[in-house]
Amino acid sequence: MPTRHPAPPLVPRATDCRCGRPVFFRNSQCLACKTALGYDPESARLLALEPVRQSALWRVVGARRGAPRYRRCANLAGPVGCNWLLPETDTSESGLCRCCRLTRTWPDLAVEQNREWVARIATAQRRLLSILIALGLPAWPAGVDPVLGLGFDLLRQPEGGAPVITGHADGLITLDVAEADDAEREQRRSALHEPYRTLLGHLRHEVGHYYWQRLVDGSVWLAPFRDLFGDERADYAAALAQHHGSGPPADWGARHVSAYASSHPWEDWAETFAHYLHLVDTLDTARGFGVDGNQVELSYERWSTADLVPEAAPEGTAAPDAGLPLSDPSAFIDLVNEWMELTGVLNELSRSMGLADFYPFVLSRPALRKLHLVHRVVQAQRAVAPPGPRPGPVRPAGRTHEDESADPVGDGHSDAELAARTGP
Ligand SMILES: [Zn+2]
Ligand SMILES: [Zn+2]
Ligand SMILES: [Zn+2]
Repeated sequence: MPTRHPAPPLVPRATDCRCGRPVFFRNSQCLACKTALGYDPESARLLALEPVRQSALWRVVGARRGAPRYRRCANLAGPVGCNWLLPETDTSESGLCRCCRLTRTWPDLAVEQNREWVARIATAQRRLLSILIALGLPAWPAGVDPVLGLGFDLLRQPEGGAPVITGHADGLITLDVAEADDAEREQRRSALHEPYRTLLGHLRHEVGHYYWQRLVDGSVWLAPFRDLFGDERADYAAALAQHHGSGPPADWGARHVSAYASSHPWEDWAETFAHYLHLVDTLDTARGFGVDGNQVELSYERWSTADLVPEAAPEGTAAPDAGLPLSDPSAFIDLVNEWMELTGVLNELSRSMGLADFYPFVLSRPALRKLHLVHRVVQAQRAVAPPGPRPGPVRPAGRTHEDESADPVGDGHSDAELAARTGP
């Protein structure tokens, strides 16, 4: 039987230090030999570093003359503890890496609790950014991205003040930093009957809204989006009020990846996009450690490319995505089948430890087709543009998405605040 050589991971999450010990994506120093480590987002590699004499620069240990040199992120020291690198040529005043630079507003870091929370959020941000960059998706701040910049406001509700609404508006993601508090987040998860709620999940959901606006709205993908997800021009505020008031339809699982996804086509897209990143990042990590979902001893009923074929269109009408890049449907189906088998095993492992399921979701055929559209949009973006600032679809009109973390009893929502964030 021929040996199967899986593709190398997009982002290797561990590597061997020069001393032979394993070091990981988030490490800034080898705990054994104390070698400095830094993550280069452009090459997606964790590098062992040595200082360049009489400068603030670093180079790979043992690198030859003329090899690339780096700066370490200015947030290496302090609560963020960022291990990312900047190229030598980046002499921006902030000295921040391309991930830290996305954060526009930090909570008051003189407060001990905020420092702890920010460290957790920044860890999730770097995880998010690493896969976005590796997938070739635009992730640059306003001023660098010529179309629509991405940014984060990390806000804490002031004592007696209005709650912070986690959400997205025109590239700006607002995150309530209290989501980094395990007890608080678990309480919200339980109150909202969600099977899964994490910082990384929030970020992947909100960035999904960003990419809808950046890559789908006003583009060739809008018609196939509406065909699968529904018409996003439906009254958004009314849809969310309905969802929070009466809950999801009983049969949401037959069409959506999550109950919240059934509230509005925008939320459906954001939830599906988050799932796509869960799948791509986790499978990539597994592959980096030699774990192949296809090799596990679990026989699921597998999806096939026939499951991606839409129901017959009325005679004489073209499918809304006729002529658009299809990518390789069998590669996508292989990916999802691998995900099903890997998560099937991981769920059992979680149960063996008495933990909640690792992946507490079931995919329906319509949800699979939505996931496929996300995959196609991402693949098309990858094909046309290498990572880096670049032109894209024309910037559409302002839009605001408010997240489900809006107070379930409905008193946490400020229209004026949202309108102010949306801008002209
Ligand atoms: Zn070492
Ligand atoms: Zn940084
Ligand atoms: Zn949302």
